[in-house]
Amino acid sequence: MINDFLKKRFLRYLNIKKTLREMDELNERLLKEKEIRQEFFANASHELKTPITSIRGYAELLESDMIKDEDTKRDMISRIKKEADHMNMLIADILEVSKLESNDIRPEVMRVDVNLLIEDTMETFKPRADEAQVTLYNYSKPGTFVYADYGHMDEIISNLVSNAIRYNRKNGKVWIYASNEGGRMELRVRDTGIGIPKSECSRIFERFYRVDKGRSRVTGGTGLGLSIVKHILSYYKGTIEVNSKTGSGSEFIVRIPEHYER
Ligand code: ADP
Repeated sequence: MINDFLKKRFLRYLNIKKTLREMDELNERLLKEKEIRQEFFANASHELKTPITSIRGYAELLESDMIKDEDTKRDMISRIKKEADHMNMLIADILEVSKLESNDIRPEVMRVDVNLLIEDTMETFKPRADEAQVTLYNYSKPGTFVYADYGHMDEIISNLVSNAIRYNRKNGKVWIYASNEGGRMELRVRDTGIGIPKSECSRIFERFYRVDKGRSRVTGGTGLGLSIVKHILSYYKGTIEVNSKTGSGSEFIVRIPEHYER
């Protein structure tokens, strides 16, 4: 009798202890998430301040009437426009990150023809590639598919192709391969660009992390592209890896299960 009573008390004690431990863990996780969110918003406002400061500076100079030369004035106006475009891109990426973070993802899953999507992406990026003197090649297998949200797949491919152009060299090349392999859709984007130092390869997926901040900014980068790609991929239980050699180029490999499962 006493034995039973003690056993029950002991089990109750163990249950309370487990609940307390779980509450501690939850609390710790919430604090960590809060810290990460705060850090993200601090970084985001810092990033937004840079174009705002530039725009203000140019506007004040134009207003002061100190600039008489018409060409210089036009140059300043085009810089203002460029900074405003950069702010637009930053805001769009910041909103995308917040949306992904809040798990407010309602994918419209459909059969995405990856080869067609790559052709469309190449068409979109052709003017930018021409300007950078970079040639794009698509060696994907016709009929390559994945069941996913079209917009998500577009985001992944566009980010990788855009980076492959942005961090390339004059007369550089970008090769894109997609195929279905062992129940997964595999996408490879390879470039002949500047490459990434080995020690930085894992860090480039962090928000706002850039190997060369100056190059990223002048070419219109926000520092959020790869973190968005990684976040989308985790939703589809997909993976991304990078192989790179400084000075000779990079290859990004994405793998996503062909069929979406939640
Ligand atoms: P960004 O807008 O700066 O390009 P990303 O998140 O897309 O931001 O990429 C993070 C960083 O990773 C870039 O700033 C760049 O330093 C590096 N990076 C990404 N893709 C490539 C690439 N194909 N070749 C070399 N460096 C790259």
